[in-house]
Amino acid sequence: MRQPEKLVIQTLEGVLRKYGYSAASARILAQNCATAQRDGSESHGLFRVKDYISTIKSGYVNGDPSPKVEDVAPGFVRVDADNGFAQIAISAAKDLVHRKAEVNGIAILAIRNSHHLGALYLDVEDFADRGFVALAFVNSIAVVAPPGGKSGVYGTNPLAFAVPRAKGPPLVFDQASSTVSHGDLQVAAREGRLLPDGTGVDKTGNPTGSPHAILNGGALSPFGGHKGASIALMIEVLCAGLVGADFSYEVTSAETPGARTARTGETIIVIDPRKGASRLPSIGERVEDLVGALAAAGQTRVPGDRRTRARKESGRYIDIDEEKWRDLIALGAE
Ligand code: NDP
Repeated sequence: MRQPEKLVIQTLEGVLRKYGYSAASARILAQNCATAQRDGSESHGLFRVKDYISTIKSGYVNGDPSPKVEDVAPGFVRVDADNGFAQIAISAAKDLVHRKAEVNGIAILAIRNSHHLGALYLDVEDFADRGFVALAFVNSIAVVAPPGGKSGVYGTNPLAFAVPRAKGPPLVFDQASSTVSHGDLQVAAREGRLLPDGTGVDKTGNPTGSPHAILNGGALSPFGGHKGASIALMIEVLCAGLVGADFSYEVTSAETPGARTARTGETIIVIDPRKGASRLPSIGERVEDLVGALAAAGQTRVPGDRRTRARKESGRYIDIDEEKWRDLIALGAE
């Protein structure tokens, strides 16, 4: 079924407020969740609402945070998210980061004491819409085993990248450093689907494609073996070591019944490619050259194409599974 975008956002906002999120938090999270759903991100759209509710009911997350933004250096902003969601901290710091990136050519936003349940591309897309190149990293709960290991140390640790294009919306990719995201793993378990062998390991460390074996005592694997594992490691360092947050294996959410989020950190790097580049070809044009070469070599789609198409086709409506919509309405009425 299709529902008007505005109605979906209002409904989500109402549900989140009902369970304890402040007006500001509910507005930002509802917008985030609805946008992911509109863009076809099944694992980080409405699917996550119950987790947002469960985690606030558990008392593990602050639904009314006051992020503390610290201007620590010409190109460096730190934020204590006050135990709220990272998107609220980003919203509080965004204007300062823009200004710093414009003045210095680069700015880093280092967030600690934050939670993240969303699709990461939404944290960088807006920067690229304004002409910046942006990278974001977030660590989470230890559900990914290192190569040869049988228990989780890394989070599914996604990285998102966005760069402007001359002829269209920014080129964006957003990928977990695990074989699949934990959201997709849960969706597969719920639907009784097997995943490719090696998606994770069972509790004895043997490679498996069974979501149940992975979820019950096993762990996901990094994508691409040791190469993905090194990316997961770098993300732990950038999001925990650099910002003063917990590594994924230090997260204590399991001690709080109902907590569905990890209190960790997020780092965003924003670069202004226009700085000192008046005699250079624009980055948007150069990205078009590269995409053209990829197409000539036979690549039929670049990252972000599926999302951009879903967004274009949706207009101001959002495709929602009827049962999920009924569940959402019921949550609001409970
Ligand atoms: P996918 O593997 O589905 O997609 C990864 C990227 O690859 C996307 O940018 C996608 O673009 C692109 N892509 C997919 N197929 C192709 C193809 N054939 N050719 C070219 N590009 C392609 O994503 P993941 O499962 O790794 O992650 C899913 C989501 O989970 C992400 O949004 C991530 O941020 C989120 N996540 C969030 C976490 C959190 O703690 N908040 C933790 C881990 C993950 P396109 O969008 O166009 O399909």
